[in-house]
Amino acid sequence: MRIDIITLFPEMCEAVLGESIIGRARKSGALEVNCHQLRDYAFDKHRRVDDAPYGGGMGMLMMAEPIALCFEDICKQTGTRPHFIYMSPQGKTLNQNKLKELAQYDSVCLLCGHYEGVDERLIEEYIDEEISIGDYVLTGGELPAVVLADALARMVPGVLSSDECFELESHYNGLLEYPQYTRPQVWHGKEVPEVLTSGHHKNITEYRRRESVIRTAKKRPELLKNAQLSQDEQRLADSILNEKNG
Ligand code: SAM
Repeated sequence: MRIDIITLFPEMCEAVLGESIIGRARKSGALEVNCHQLRDYAFDKHRRVDDAPYGGGMGMLMMAEPIALCFEDICKQTGTRPHFIYMSPQGKTLNQNKLKELAQYDSVCLLCGHYEGVDERLIEEYIDEEISIGDYVLTGGELPAVVLADALARMVPGVLSSDECFELESHYNGLLEYPQYTRPQVWHGKEVPEVLTSGHHKNITEYRRRESVIRTAKKRPELLKNAQLSQDEQRLADSILNEKNG
């Protein structure tokens, strides 16, 4: 997959996406990430990309034309039209299902707003969808873009050692992940559940699935309505919810 990020602060995105698992995946070629400096597409000598909003009001607005030029250039480079996302507090909130959908694209482009945001006409003409990382407002789209890019990159084949790494984690199948333990076997008088040291893989799988259902019911019961549960699991979840509520 190729991810392009249009930003006024490419170093901010590179600082995060150049490290650790994502950094290594880029080096190995499993993933391509390009951070583009929007000012390179400004058309005056001061490299301005913003101006005052018509009608007055606080702050500045990012102009449409430099963003359009930058995106057109990315289209030329990729030889295709990437799915174009504007990181915006007005967008749909990001979740794992949205990431599964985005993982189907070969190429996505993320636009990071700044100041008051972006000229509405650019959004109307170019943007395929707006995505938010939560109902609060940040100063810029760089943190949201790296959050999306990181979460998306984990689902790209070859970035993690196997698909199981993300398929068993919280949210992928609508449940939270089971509790996990490492050495020592006893810590502060608390022992690791016996089944995990038994070497019995079927029992371990069953224990983990059951624990996933239990902790989802305890911590995030609203997720259960989209999870696929067996009748036994549904009964288990109901008993925990009844205990909680009454
Ligand atoms: N005036 C805008 C509004 O009220 O909807 C907010 C602009 S915000 C200060 C500047 C930029 O930060 C936005 O253009 C967007 O790219 C980014 N941003 C801020 N909060 C965000 C969020 N929750 N999710 C995604 N992007 C966000």
